[in-house]
Amino acid sequence: MLRSFTASRHLVRTLATHAPSAGAPATRHTWAKQEIQQIYDTPLLQLVFRAAGEHRVHHDPSKIQLCTLMNIKTGGCTEDCSYCSQSSKYSTTTKASKLVDIEPVLEAARKAKANGSTRFCMGAAWRDLAGRKSGFKRILEMVTEVRGMGMEVCTTLGMLSPDQARQLKEAGLTAYNHNLDTSREFYPSVITTRSYDERLETISAVRDAGISVCSGGILGLGETDADRVGLIWEVSNMPEHPESFPVNALVPIPGTPLEGNDPVKYHTLIRTIATARIVLPTTIIRLAAGRSTLSEAEQAMCFMAGANAVFTGDQMLTTPCSPWDEDKAMMGRWGLDGMRSFEQSNVAKKEGARLESVVSDADSASTGQTQK
Ligand code: SF4
Repeated sequence: MLRSFTASRHLVRTLATHAPSAGAPATRHTWAKQEIQQIYDTPLLQLVFRAAGEHRVHHDPSKIQLCTLMNIKTGGCTEDCSYCSQSSKYSTTTKASKLVDIEPVLEAARKAKANGSTRFCMGAAWRDLAGRKSGFKRILEMVTEVRGMGMEVCTTLGMLSPDQARQLKEAGLTAYNHNLDTSREFYPSVITTRSYDERLETISAVRDAGISVCSGGILGLGETDADRVGLIWEVSNMPEHPESFPVNALVPIPGTPLEGNDPVKYHTLIRTIATARIVLPTTIIRLAAGRSTLSEAEQAMCFMAGANAVFTGDQMLTTPCSPWDEDKAMMGRWGLDGMRSFEQSNVAKKEGARLESVVSDADSASTGQTQK
């Protein structure tokens, strides 16, 4: 039975501690594409140096958010995203499955928390929630239960109506992922079954419901530099910058139209991360799919350029992930530590000035702490 998130609060803690430095410039929502292109075209080390400076104004540079992703409903999706193994339009090895039960999700979330992850994301491969009343009810319960563990909880469930977004907020949802993927101009070359504007409508519904927005893109789709700039420009001009901007490097999946794409060049990845950091100064830049193809030194350079979140654990939605122990060892070597839950001030604001979490007496002392 779905228990009300607000009714079940019994422990009040103030968690958000890192706010932008006093006097830090406010975020801008009036970037011109040309300005962003100029930043993107800066000589690379100069660009990384500038991004690293911007990062230090708004974030604790020693902190990386550890997130764990679980696929709660795999494959059989009616959309035609040309990079995705879960689309029913393509012949891939990913098999369709039903929505998972609640308990395996809670077990995975407990394991993620015990390993130091502070955000738990659940992904379902479908276009929207139409005709999925009982499934949605189950997901709302998952959200409430995971949030009750003191973790940030995120879902990606396709398109949302304003009412569905409101119900997710009431259940305790922290963030909703809905990527724009690429620029408006290049988007029709990648997806034809839903429009760019439909994606923006879902993002608006999420924002209006008071949920943090996670929206970014994928590099290596065949886009140009102008498309990568166009994507950053699009989110920079939103009424609020997304609290999270995932940067994925395409992992080509056999059977999809993009199976033969060349991997995105590493310098392009760094350039995109650094540009996003400068244009979206308070946003968490999330190094997402494709990270397992990077060496440790390459990942460290991404952190220097402003990336401050990774997915860690057993698996991404359909691509490999770095395991917790490897990530914790890597972070230790580079002097990095995990963020606490709700450490990002923008996310904390949406949760309310004083965060209230349901945690047991037994685990309250270690809630959200990275175990190295
Ligand atoms: S990316 Fe999402 S919406 Fe697109 S085909 Fe894959 S599961 Fe469906």
